[in-house]
Amino acid sequence: MADCYLCGERAVFRTEDGPLCAKHFSKWYEDGVAAAIKRYDMIHAGDRVCVGFSGGKDSTVLLTVLCRLNLDCELVAVTVDEGIGGYRDDTILAAKDTASRLGVEHRIVSFTDVCGKTLDELLENSPQAACSVCGTLRRRALNRAAREMEANSIATGHCLDDESQSVVMNYLRGDVTRATASFNSNSAELFIPRIKPLCRSSERATVAYGLCNNLLVPLPECPYTRYALRKDVRTWLGKLEYAKPGTLTRIADGQEELLSRMPKSEVVTELGRCEKCGEPTANRLCAACQQLERLM
Ligand SMILES: [Zn+2]
Ligand SMILES: [Zn+2]
Repeated sequence: MADCYLCGERAVFRTEDGPLCAKHFSKWYEDGVAAAIKRYDMIHAGDRVCVGFSGGKDSTVLLTVLCRLNLDCELVAVTVDEGIGGYRDDTILAAKDTASRLGVEHRIVSFTDVCGKTLDELLENSPQAACSVCGTLRRRALNRAAREMEANSIATGHCLDDESQSVVMNYLRGDVTRATASFNSNSAELFIPRIKPLCRSSERATVAYGLCNNLLVPLPECPYTRYALRKDVRTWLGKLEYAKPGTLTRIADGQEELLSRMPKSEVVTELGRCEKCGEPTANRLCAACQQLERLM
């Protein structure tokens, strides 16, 4: 690659404006995250932000960048241990290590604590349901931990690629409710709002940032990935992005434009508490407890 257009050092990443060296690329990446936080009004002075911290590459970059940006907020981190054999132990060690290096208060909650079984045990007879079961239980565990830690928001490491994949997946599933995000409920204080500070940063740039800053340790891939629709969509969009750069950003921009034209839903869903676990829900049982009833 050519030299950094700002200082002439060896470049490591090519941006739209030109190639950048490790130092200038890192600054460019952090500025991009700061701009997204501002653009979507994600973090306010005095906030307590709970980072959903798996210990994987995206959330490690997220936690590091949030620390380096010196925002006027407090950061805490929560790792959910799903109980996935041969995969989770290493990432949890990496998470502990990073949190203590950054001096961030860190809590680990496990599926065994919240439902008595590991994900592997729950999925014994239906591994193809992995991502949906895991996602629902993880969301509940994270929401509860963030509430107990008195956080105002939950920050997740979803990057531009994840966001664009989700948009396309909603269409592939015909899931209009999710595609239009028209859900409106009375119970904001029970559901801790989600923020995604990396939502405008590509996965490629996020990995490059991790490499330039020695944040990445080689970790195994989740063994359930092979059952996920996301895997096919990821490969397909990756090819399109390579052939037509900017595709991922255009999908995210299009979705944002679509949502801005949607009238806010008039129907307010009255939420109560789940009979079993007390988490907010519009039904007798929350989505997580319904999943558990089917599986146990
Ligand atoms: Zn430079
Ligand atoms: Zn429940």
